Amino acid sequence: MPKPLNVVAGVDMGATHIRLCLQDESGAVLHCEKQRTAEIISGGVVCGIARLLNDRLDRFNARCRGMVMGFPALVGKDKRTIISTPNLPLAAAELNELAGKLEDALGCPVEFSRDVNLQLSFDVAQNGLQPQQVLGAYLGTGMGFAVWLNGAPWTGAHGVAGELGHIPQGDMHLTCGCGNAGCLETVCSGIALKRWYDASPRAYEIGELFSVAAQEPFVVALLDHAARAIATSVNLFDPDAVILGGGVMDMVDFPREALIAQTKRYLRRPLPHDAVRFIDASSSAFNGAQGAATLARACFLPALYVAPQQAALG
Ligand SMILES: [Zn+2]
Repeated sequence: MPKPLNVVAGVDMGATHIRLCLQDESGAVLHCEKQRTAEIISGGVVCGIARLLNDRLDRFNARCRGMVMGFPALVGKDKRTIISTPNLPLAAAELNELAGKLEDALGCPVEFSRDVNLQLSFDVAQNGLQPQQVLGAYLGTGMGFAVWLNGAPWTGAHGVAGELGHIPQGDMHLTCGCGNAGCLETVCSGIALKRWYDASPRAYEIGELFSVAAQEPFVVALLDHAARAIATSVNLFDPDAVILGGGVMDMVDFPREALIAQTKRYLRRPLPHDAVRFIDASSSAFNGAQGAATLARACFLPALYVAPQQAALG
């Protein structure tokens, strides 16, 4: 039996899908896969993740040296505590001491992260933006947002910075998944878009929405809410660049150029208006898991870690 390969694991735990990425010591991607969250966690999240990971490690004759796991959640500064996760079907008892239980089951260190921070880490590396100041706006199930400052995601005093989706700029008559009334996500999110779509009979599939119904007042308003929120963040942070992505922006015929033009209408002139760049997120569904694995390599195999940009420069 040859010596086992040292690998790290990145897991992106979404409401619908779990994505797993294994990287070897050099950062080469060994394996990526997607599974349905409900199926993996049906017998408990620790058991499900351990079974999935151990099976793949056996397949590659590999040993996992560490795992980073992203959640659509508030994650504490200790990188081990899930504080609030409105969009995931996990019981509070499961979240209690979850990092420790996973470490016991996997036999390697585990860290948690907010999923959009992993997505932004991936996009920053892909575009060689590590030394710059970058914002990520990811319009998907929610209105995901993350800030890249000083070479890393900026997480605030308590680990929960960047909750643009929960600024009180939505419909005050609606309660957000977080429990507050009137969050931006009540009018600007994939959830809000689906709620509007489901409210009346439609002659088209939801995936065709931007091809057929882009001029509907609700859709126009949703895009204006997104533009105002993104412009607010740009006027506050004065970043070099803004990454735009997420499942809603990936939909067919999403009016990306119109969103950028609308956002720029609200930017302070002459700066940051004349200088800020808007960049498309690369749309691979495995970005979050790959970002998690890259972070795991930096955390748990530091002697061997070469930052993606350094690697690209040779
Ligand atoms: Zn909220």
